[in-house]
Amino acid sequence: MTADREAELLASVPDGLFIGGEWRPAASGNSLRVFDPSTGRVVKKIADAGPEDGKAAMDAAADAFPAWAATPARQRAEILRRAFDLLQERKEDFALLMTIEMGKPLAEARGEVAYGGEFLRWFSEETARIQGRYGANPEGTGRMIVSQHPVGPCFLITPWNFPLAMATRKIAPALAAGCTVVIKPAELTPLTTLFFAKLLEDAGLPKGVVNVFTTSTSGAVSEPIIRDPRLRKLSFTGSTPVGQKLLEQASHGVLRTSMELGGNAPFVVFDDADLDKAVDGAMLAKFRNIGQACTAANRFIVHRSVADEFASRVTERVKAFTMGRGTEEGVVIGPLIDDRAVVKAEELVTDAVTRGATLLAGGQRGVIDGLGDGTFYEATVLTDVQAGSNILREEIFGPVLAIVPFDTEDEAVAIANDTEYGLVSYVFTESLSRGQRMIDKLETGMMGLNVGVVSNAAAPFGGWKMSGLGREGGAEGIHEYLQTKYTLTASP
Ligand code: NAD
Repeated sequence: MTADREAELLASVPDGLFIGGEWRPAASGNSLRVFDPSTGRVVKKIADAGPEDGKAAMDAAADAFPAWAATPARQRAEILRRAFDLLQERKEDFALLMTIEMGKPLAEARGEVAYGGEFLRWFSEETARIQGRYGANPEGTGRMIVSQHPVGPCFLITPWNFPLAMATRKIAPALAAGCTVVIKPAELTPLTTLFFAKLLEDAGLPKGVVNVFTTSTSGAVSEPIIRDPRLRKLSFTGSTPVGQKLLEQASHGVLRTSMELGGNAPFVVFDDADLDKAVDGAMLAKFRNIGQACTAANRFIVHRSVADEFASRVTERVKAFTMGRGTEEGVVIGPLIDDRAVVKAEELVTDAVTRGATLLAGGQRGVIDGLGDGTFYEATVLTDVQAGSNILREEIFGPVLAIVPFDTEDEAVAIANDTEYGLVSYVFTESLSRGQRMIDKLETGMMGLNVGVVSNAAAPFGGWKMSGLGREGGAEGIHEYLQTKYTLTASP
């Protein structure tokens, strides 16, 4: 991977705001810096929007809405399909860009392009299937028509950890439903969304249907948009505390909301599990994205009779990982997103060890020769983590695998459900009846039974409890952007 290729790619990413189909600087002329977390170096400067830019983006989305809502479904679908095809052509560029700005290994970034692209294909197919109902009322005095309509201009806010997939998972269903959008990517990884907006432009998307602003002052620019009476929907992916604050703001206009928030996924390994499958699943559920996924397994709840063997097998795998810049061949552990993330991992591990956990691997900040100020943390395994440890309550968001032994099925369920979150759970058992009991008993929006990754564009992604509201993907995903109208007509 040459430095020239990276420089050429970065130069081809727009550095402006995308508003009403035009690329423009921030009204203030301010810019913000984007870093490579594996080196700490600035890779690009881009526009830093203020409230006036946010208003301009809202104006553009509101102006474009009537024409886009009236565009035949087939035409909307074809634009999404063209975007899917263009993404396949540009997949290496998107993958490299995500590795540069977010740090994930290139192989994983390619996986994200494949996953993120599927939302464009899936929702291009769903567009023509938006349907209603028609039928006689029970009294026989009239006809009832139930029809679906785009909800209106939407505001989409995405996190830094999956820069492409979090954008396509929201943009694709919104456009499929006939909505226009303003999207605000995270300030830590904004380049992928800007590059994707350029792709949408090339796919022939009409001006103003998608508007993008990047900012270092998210709250100040977002709140006036959320309170704008023309906005009808807020879709947010990020942390639960920010989601709660935005829900309060959204209550002002009684907005439709989708909230994809934090997780604290249990990964339960029963004594009748196939340990090969469980160890493979653990590697994916824990170390994908360097542990920085809302779906990352946070607590490994393992039957006492197999806990030592599970611990030694995962430790062996973890010790063989290569840490480094994600562009290097064979790297599994890239950098964490910033220094705060490293400090958080350090604090959680120190707290767990102080309370009696045993450290089997890692446990240190990573230092890689020649990579300047990269923010690395070693892949880590802890076992015998004690109840009350912070690591069992908080999202780790780093490559730390924490094992808690259990004795009975009821105890495993109690530990798994002992969290305010309910996004995803992983269960490993070869018993069909036990697997079915877990489907009934675990408080979770999604479940992986003998698998370590569940995400799929064709499935409804979303959480229970404080993990959120609404679903993204699947047949459910488009309904988040549609509203129902019922009409009664007199009998002919
Ligand atoms: P975050 O909540 O700090 O930020 C998310 C987004 O909100 C960013 O774009 C940020 O700039 C913006 N933001 C922050 N404060 C804001 C404000 N006051 N007004 C408007 N926007 C604001 O989260 P993060 O650190 O970027 O992402 C990590 C979190 O996201 C984790 O908790 C993770 O579990 C969650 N996440 C959830 C899902 C899911 O689908 N459930 C997916 C990915 C990440």
